[in-house]
Amino acid sequence: MIVDRQGRRFRNLRISLTSACNYACTYCVPDGKRLVAAQNELSADAMARGVEYLIEAAGIERLRITGGEPLVSPRLERFMEQVGRMGLSDISLTTNAQLLARKLPILLDAGIGRINVSLDTLDPSAFRSIARGGDLATVLDGMEQARASGMRIKVNMVPLRGSNLDQVMPLLDYCLERGYELRFIELMRMGYLATDHHGFLQQFVSLDQLLALIGEHYGYQQADAPVDATAVRYRIPGKGHFGVIANESVPFCRTCSRLRLSSSGWLHGCLSSSNRHYVGDLLDKPRHQALPALQRLLIKALDDKQAVAFSGGATVMKIIGG
Ligand code: SAM
Repeated sequence: MIVDRQGRRFRNLRISLTSACNYACTYCVPDGKRLVAAQNELSADAMARGVEYLIEAAGIERLRITGGEPLVSPRLERFMEQVGRMGLSDISLTTNAQLLARKLPILLDAGIGRINVSLDTLDPSAFRSIARGGDLATVLDGMEQARASGMRIKVNMVPLRGSNLDQVMPLLDYCLERGYELRFIELMRMGYLATDHHGFLQQFVSLDQLLALIGEHYGYQQADAPVDATAVRYRIPGKGHFGVIANESVPFCRTCSRLRLSSSGWLHGCLSSSNRHYVGDLLDKPRHQALPALQRLLIKALDDKQAVAFSGGATVMKIIGG
């Protein structure tokens, strides 16, 4: 097993099935262009082999499928069929849920029991101006259908000053009423926000600011979370839980166990590092040739992790997989 000096190792793999997305969220895709895939995206079979090889070479236990928007990928069905059979202890998916109702049977057939849905507002007009694609009612209907089929749902919201702060309480109540766990994601200095400090600070909402806002309406207590969890979790007695992924306020690099594989075959050991390692060519090789080479690259990828705190990264989130 490959372990670094801080005792960290890769356990969780995030695979970006495509970098194409049917949204162009203002904080992620500043040029507003939707559905642009990276060149030379891997085939479903190569990606599935990537997962299989990384289970063996890195000790991956859990898989999250992300993007871009994974549900727009033509490779979804074939990829899901294969990873569903790999015996991973946990497979989940992050989606904007625009196509969720249509693709639900594929996810259920592959044994996906939980999903994260990104949703920044319940206001249809704010939805159009933040996501710049899709339709809010279709998202809510998709979530409802997933819930009815027994899936556990977490909702991810990025609170943005000047844009959706008025939606924190409506979204929290909406989620508490339906048993969805809402997780607020502190805005991260990714993509253009890595260099646009003014734009970042203008929009950024911290953990403390968020808790103060929620505290005006509800009492809450900190709840337990797994050691390598990214979210700080809170319990509102009698109502349910919410979480905050506080990259800036409570950095979690010390316990980070994440590894990312992009749709075009690059391994990323850290969101905050510009280093990446090409493995696309290894995925066509038989395992006895691929695994030793993969292990050498995994050592480099683990070394890319920050010691303590996230400091920003130029890679756009939709490429690297959020
Ligand atoms: N399309 C899928 C979705 O919408 O969930 C998966 C990919 S999307 C890049 C994953 C997550 O990254 C979304 O929840 C999105 O809000 C978040 N995200 C993108 N850019 C971000 C940033 N700069 N800071 C914080 N979260 C960001």
